[in-house]
Amino acid sequence: MTEMVKKICMLGNPAVGKTSLVANYVYNVFKDTYLSTIGAKPTKKQLHLNHPVNDLPVDLTMIIWDIAGHNTFQDIHKTYYRGAEGAIIVCDITSRESLKAIPNWLTTFYEVVDVVPVVLFANKSDLMDQAAITEEDLKEVADAIESPFFFTSAKTGEHVETAFGELAVDILRMQ
Ligand code: GDP
Ligand code: MG
Repeated sequence: MTEMVKKICMLGNPAVGKTSLVANYVYNVFKDTYLSTIGAKPTKKQLHLNHPVNDLPVDLTMIIWDIAGHNTFQDIHKTYYRGAEGAIIVCDITSRESLKAIPNWLTTFYEVVDVVPVVLFANKSDLMDQAAITEEDLKEVADAIESPFFFTSAKTGEHVETAFGELAVDILRMQ
């Protein structure tokens, strides 16, 4: 059994649902400390899966870093990103602005981190009737940042496990 610990960061505009997604995903919280110096909250999620390349069992601990409060990419502390081995970029399907901001989030992230797997979450899929962006718009941004995307809902849980799981597998594939 191989054991691995990976730091991943939640990126995206305020109010897109980052904290709600982590809460929906992580029912098993081991660490819940708020790092006031950085303004971030790391949460542990443990996964047992088979390695996508050699099929051997892996015990993967993801330390999911979530920004506390309503920060923009300009004021994120570099310590928040340092050492990250993956990222989730979240937009809200009811906000065009949140989709437009995605390249900026990634640019700031890559000022600190080498290229790592990134997954785009198009969140609030339960509000599809209020959608301000199309699947085409999403696909365009996802292609530009060379990342897969998923429609997720932190409210209903739709695709949340699948989308986080995709990031985990993409990270293992890099090993
Ligand atoms: P953050 O600032 O990105 O961490 O966003 P939050 O997780 O604090 O969520 C902002 C607001 O959006 C809150 O009122 C949440 O209840 C709501 N919210 C988050 N995710 C969803 C979702 O998938 N569907 C709906 N309908 N509301 C959501
Ligand atoms: Mg939050």
